[in-house]
Amino acid sequence: MASGPPHVLIIGAGTGGLCLAHGLRRAGISVAVYERYRTRGEGLLGYRVGIGPTGSKALRECLPPELFDVYLATCARSPRYFNVITQRLRRTASFTLRPDTDPVETERSVARMTLRQVLLTGMEDVVHFDKTFTRYEQRDDGTVTAHFADGSTATGDLLVAADGTHSAVRRQYLPHAVVRDAGTINIATRVPLTAHTRQLLPERVEKGISLIFGAGGIMGVLHVMEFKWDRDGEIKPDVGDDDATLLRNWPGRRHDNTRDNINFIIWSTARRFPPDVMQRRGEDLVQTARNLTRHWHPNLRELLARSDPGSALPIRVATSEPVPAWKSSTVTLLGDAIHTMTPGRGVGANTALRDAALLCRQLRQAAAGDKTLLQAVADYEAAMVPYGFARVADSLNRSGTSGDDRMYKPVVGRLALLGARGYFGVTSRVPRLARKFVNDFYTYRGEED
Ligand SMILES: Cc1cc2nc3c(=O)[nH]c(=O)nc-3n(C[C@H](O)[C@H](O)[C@H](O)COP(=O)(O)OP(=O)(O)OC[C@H]3O[C@@H](n4cnc5c(N)ncnc54)[C@H](O)[C@@H]3O)c2cc1C
Repeated sequence: MASGPPHVLIIGAGTGGLCLAHGLRRAGISVAVYERYRTRGEGLLGYRVGIGPTGSKALRECLPPELFDVYLATCARSPRYFNVITQRLRRTASFTLRPDTDPVETERSVARMTLRQVLLTGMEDVVHFDKTFTRYEQRDDGTVTAHFADGSTATGDLLVAADGTHSAVRRQYLPHAVVRDAGTINIATRVPLTAHTRQLLPERVEKGISLIFGAGGIMGVLHVMEFKWDRDGEIKPDVGDDDATLLRNWPGRRHDNTRDNINFIIWSTARRFPPDVMQRRGEDLVQTARNLTRHWHPNLRELLARSDPGSALPIRVATSEPVPAWKSSTVTLLGDAIHTMTPGRGVGANTALRDAALLCRQLRQAAAGDKTLLQAVADYEAAMVPYGFARVADSLNRSGTSGDDRMYKPVVGRLALLGARGYFGVTSRVPRLARKFVNDFYTYRGEED
């Protein structure tokens, strides 16, 4: 184990890994990140991720203040309503969300590619692309060596697995850990936001997050993503001077081709999809989504028809099983690499960011000599494992992200659908319940249990 400040190796330049890298660098701790993608623009990352108070707090803690301001400026317009609608576009419930005046205590809509570009800003000397991790060795002198597919190696005092759901580090370190198919499949698409596509949506849907509880066990979600730049990438005229200056000076803008769009995702139990759905792409995949939504409102069908075929992506939803306690060492894990969860509660990225901030705090203490590196890792894991797997369990039981959900059963499914719509309808109409629902929406995401 290192006696001086540690050198930290992070596998994976995703949400959690990059947040940790920023935090460590700000704390003066030596860090290197290894990413399998060959370039900073690779990967189908155009989709929305909702960052709530948990994630924003972690970003504020780890990022340089000026970069945190860029993060805020690059978020899409925040949703004003959380709606529940039917497949016929009938509104079952609508909750007014908090205004986005506070930098962290709000729900922010972020494009994955844009967030990635924000997190890569200023990290050119830290992130090494085209480095696919294959295995590690823990050495007798307390160091750990990572091996990459190109034959190169890197040695440090701590190896952090931030390499996502199919983590190669986890496979070696915790081979008994179980990541399994949750039994549902999503088809994600992006529809260019134009004057025409905008008017296909009712006002509250256009300004909010809308969960579609469709008949026959087909679910959906709509997010309108409107940014401060136009389709040519120029700053829109109504953007305030401070944000406009920040964005003009932000070098990451050159690497990001995200434009205003409507994220439209449909999902159901895997049984409802053709067996080869994971191989389908483009028009073929959009048509698969259209076949499943044959009885939906014509406006929703038109949105799907107008979606960018190049954006259509099938996602097989995964979840993880709680891992029995292990002895802490020079290898640790964060985010999806340890606690993959379904998107049911929209907290996977938030939890990865929370892990990053927590691990960073612990490593700062170790670097300051307040505890050993091993103790810092053990303290991080003792806190992370319980909240991480609590989120996994909650997420599995929400919004039909488990293929076993009652929603997908032949007869019971109709009752479950009516029950879910009824619950949201009543909750939204009783002011006291509606207030509690909205407060819980933020508290859940912001709680520090
Ligand atoms: C449809 C959908 C919607 C979602 N919506 C939300 C939401 O609204 N809010 C929310 O909080 N979460 C959401 N999530 C979850 C969220 O996307 C993830 O939990 C989050 O991105 C995990 O971050 P991470 O840093 O652990 O991993 P990732 O961001 O996946 O990063 C892993 C990185 O490791 C790299 N890598 C993988 N293997 C290797 C290797 N062998 N060598 C080197 N590099 C490697 C990958 O290329 C990648 O860059 C959603 C997920 C889905 C599927």
